[in-house]
Order: sequence, then structure tokens, then C-alpha cells
Amino acid sequence: MRRSILVYALGFLSCALLVTLIAAKWSPTGTAPDRDVYYPGTEKIGKNEMRVVALGTGMPSARPKQAAACWLVELGNGDKFLFDIGSGCHERLAAQMIPYDFLDKVFIGHLHVDHMGDLPTFWLGGTTMNRLVPLRIWGPSGGTPELGTKHAMDLMQKMYAWDIGTRSGVIDFRGGVLEINEFAFDGINEVIYDENGVKIRSIPAVHGLDGAVSFILEWNGLTFVYGSDTIPNKWYVEYAAGADLAVHECFLPATLLVTKQGFSPLEALTVGTQGHTSPEQFGKVMSLVEPRLAVGYHFFNDFDTEPEVRDRVRRTYDGPLALATDYMVFNVTKDEIRTRMSVVDEEVWPTPPQKKKIAPDVGSSIAFSKFTISGVMALPEVVGPIYDEINEKYGTDFEPLFKQ
Ligand SMILES: [Zn+2]
Ligand SMILES: [Zn+2]
Repeated sequence: MRRSILVYALGFLSCALLVTLIAAKWSPTGTAPDRDVYYPGTEKIGKNEMRVVALGTGMPSARPKQAAACWLVELGNGDKFLFDIGSGCHERLAAQMIPYDFLDKVFIGHLHVDHMGDLPTFWLGGTTMNRLVPLRIWGPSGGTPELGTKHAMDLMQKMYAWDIGTRSGVIDFRGGVLEINEFAFDGINEVIYDENGVKIRSIPAVHGLDGAVSFILEWNGLTFVYGSDTIPNKWYVEYAAGADLAVHECFLPATLLVTKQGFSPLEALTVGTQGHTSPEQFGKVMSLVEPRLAVGYHFFNDFDTEPEVRDRVRRTYDGPLALATDYMVFNVTKDEIRTRMSVVDEEVWPTPPQKKKIAPDVGSSIAFSKFTISGVMALPEVVGPIYDEINEKYGTDFEPLFKQ
């Protein structure tokens, strides 16, 4: 009895001491120390570090919580790469507060809208967000030329003729120039990018049609693999083996595709296992790849779906695992992979241009017709003072285009 009182007393004292030590770190008037989150724009990337940010982890079905596929890879050498640029991801990219001149390389794994739907807004919106360098795109060929990336990009530029026309002669449009790099979809571990110590290889994927690929980025002894969409395939298993971070789709299980997505049982089985990768298949792939961290994405990641997805992955894989949601961040070094969530500023503004802007050639602008001009209300008594205010503030001498 006496001994148990002593044990109890010692236990109480050591707990009190621990509480005192923890409490000593905090102050009622100070700041909360060491919050385990990532605030974009506030952390340097280490010289040997790779930072990966999940900017789109959802599905083709739109929802506020998760954009469609997009992954940002930032390296300690200053290079930044986007892998896929699916619908809804542009806002999340803007929230990273990265100058757009540094965001000039996009690798598209396949041409589904949930993997490239925000390319137009990023491309043309980027010119209003101060990108002054061409946008470089890499993407696969298709089974025919019309199903390849180059054809899609050529048509995209034609489709946005009106948008481009409004900017011609009005803004510095260097950021609107596209550099299109199409590579063979059936290249197996072919190098498609080799600059500044970074190699990116392409391997075929099995998804939709011929013309889907996965990517392997190697830099400084670190390897990032991005699956885009694919069902389990031999190339991923062979060439992603031992990767530091292996991202691969992990679709909703067929059970939830029926109950949550409204699919018929046959649709759920076909889409969930033959067109996409079920959690059990994802787990099997990762048990063969054995990455330092397996990352599953491409499902609605909620309180009531994640447990079932995780349970099913665990039927076939017991290694390190992250089931990604938007704004999950991975800091990868040789010693450690740190996984956190971001806290973003939803009222973010574009960063300033990184180069001096060139005044546009006004002569290249497209004029309104007489018809449209006939509708203008110039309102000189309203607009004049606005010009006066700016001219006075900046020592300029500008005049309105529309006078009467
Ligand atoms: Zn797809
Ligand atoms: Zn997809």
C-alpha cells in the first residue's frame, strides 16, 4: 500500500514537471510557437530539398473543397514544375504567391479536362498576373495527331482568338506565348526534359485512350513520380520503384461509387477498377514500388470516405502512406519526408512582375467597329477627374481614349 502511494506520488510529480515544462513555452500574451502548418511564401526551400504541394486532388466532378488534378514541385535549385493543371486548381496555385515568371513549366499527363481544364485560365490569366516569359507545355502524342497535345494546344490558341485579340497592343503579352513540346506517348523511360540538373522521364500509362503517360522527375538524388491517371501497369511498377514520393491515383472504391456517386454497380466496377485504380489496386502497386512515401489522390477525401479508402489500401499495402487532399505539402529531403497542411490567404493578390514590362505596340491593337463606338458614353466629367488624379500623382499626361 505504502509503495503504491509512493509510485502514485512520483507519477504525479513527474506529470506536474512535464506540464510545467510544456506550459513554460507558452504565454498568455505571446505567440503560439511552432505551429505545424505551411504558410505559402514564408519558407525557404533548402538547397537539397524538394517541396511538393497538392493543388488538386479531387475528381472531374467539381467541388469547392478539392480541385481536379494539379501538383506543384519546387526544388532547392529554384526550378518549379506543374504536373497536370486540372479544373479549379488555378486558385490554389495563385494562393502559393509565387511570381508567375517562375511558373513557366507544365507537364500534362493526359488530356482529360480534370487534368488540363485550368490551362487556359493559367495561360491567359497569367498574362494579367504579370508572367512575362513564355509558358512551356509538355504533353504526350496521341494515337493519331488529332489526339495529341500539339493539336490540342493549336486549337486552344485558335479558340481564344477573341481573348488574345483584346490584349493585343494593350498589355505586354510575352507571357501569352506558348512553347509546345509534344513527346511520344509510348516512350518508355525516355528523357523529355533535361535542364539545370533536373531530368524528367515519361512512361506510358493505361487510361482512356493511347496518349496517357506518367512522369518521373529526378534531381539531386531525389525522385518524384507522378501517375496522372492510370490503372496498374508494368511501367509504373518498374520505373517508380524506390521513389522518394510516388503519387498515383487512388479512386473511390466501387462501393462508394454506387452509394455516393450514383453509379450503377457495373459502372462502378468498370470505372473504379478498369478505367481507374481502386484503393486495393493502388495498395498492390505501392507494395511493389516500395516508395519512401506512397501518395494516393483523385478521390473525394472526406470524414466518411477516407476510412474506407484507407482500410482497402491496407488490404494490399502496409508501408508509409498519405491520402492527399488539397493544400497538403510534402517537404522531401534525403533524411526526412515531412507532411503538413497549408494555411492560405484567400484574399491573395498577384505578385509583381519580375521583369520590366515592355510598352505594348498600340498599332497592333484591334479597333472597335463604328457601330460599337456609337454606343460609348465617354462621360468626360466623370472620367476626366480620374485621369487628372492619376496624372497628378504619377507626373504623367495621359488622356482618355474615348473623349466624346
Ligand atoms: Zn483521366
Ligand atoms: Zn483524372
